[in-house]
Amino acid sequence: MQPLAKNIWINGELTAWENATVHVMSHALHYGTSVFEGIRVYDTPNGPCGFRLTDHVRRLFDSARIYHFPMPYAEDELVQACKDVVRAEGLRSAYLRPLAFLGECGMGVSPSPEAIRSDVMISAFAWGAYLGEEALEKGVDACISSWNRVAPNTVPAGAKAGGNYLSSYLIGREARVRGFGEGIALGADGLLSEGAGENLFIVKDGVLMTPPAAASILQGITRDSVMKLARGLGYEAREQVLPREALYVADEVFMTGTAAEITPVRSIDGIMTRAGGPGPVTKAVNKAFRGLFDGATPDRFGWLEPIGEA
Ligand code: PMP
Repeated sequence: MQPLAKNIWINGELTAWENATVHVMSHALHYGTSVFEGIRVYDTPNGPCGFRLTDHVRRLFDSARIYHFPMPYAEDELVQACKDVVRAEGLRSAYLRPLAFLGECGMGVSPSPEAIRSDVMISAFAWGAYLGEEALEKGVDACISSWNRVAPNTVPAGAKAGGNYLSSYLIGREARVRGFGEGIALGADGLLSEGAGENLFIVKDGVLMTPPAAASILQGITRDSVMKLARGLGYEAREQVLPREALYVADEVFMTGTAAEITPVRSIDGIMTRAGGPGPVTKAVNKAFRGLFDGATPDRFGWLEPIGEA
């Protein structure tokens, strides 16, 4: 694999990219037993800042709790380690990828509790627009996937676990093979859930609506930020159960995620949204979000966490 970084933090040590390897018999490779995060670092007027870094690390620990993976570090130690990796790579803006996985726990799906040990790695590297620059500007053409999201009480959608991304892989791959920029999934109940790697928002008559936690979604940190920013701008923003057809009659549709940021959706299944691209509400919310990073939007919630200079 082409190096994305000079070093990767593994179990407390910075390790050269080429030496950052695991054994092919690692449990996570066979059974998907990993939990991870994606966090963006933005170059702000106050220096590089992790966006809601502590909240992301908290969610990593929540994901580990759901699977009962032991975490060999405290939350604040991993927050600090994330900052250290960005500084060591000399990056001013970055995508951070912490991941905890079951490594050498022996064969078998359920290792004995004494054998279970989590390895932890953190990598920081440059990453541009997830769905492409054009999607950010003009909006992405999305489709409803033929694959549903995992049903409640099967594989927990609320944990950000490696195995969950088999679902995202199928949804994303199918969309691209069919010529779309991204796929949107329905839950097992046929109601709207989320994108392959993004949460979903619909704007109708000036109100922002997003499927609730019960809709087999990952409760995105960008999703939460967008709701708070939208309310600060005077919009109503609410969680709501939404049928598929709500997409086809929406004024605006957009998706949110750490990698995808705020990506407008231009069309769904070939049906243009009324706005036909980023509409006025999407633009206003995106401006407030972007403004956090150039100082135009006050950081009222303390979301920007300084990384410190290299
Ligand atoms: N849903 C899924 C399936 C995702 O992979 C992501 C990206 N982490 C999101 C939603 C958005 O979450 P966040 O805004 O916290 O990145």
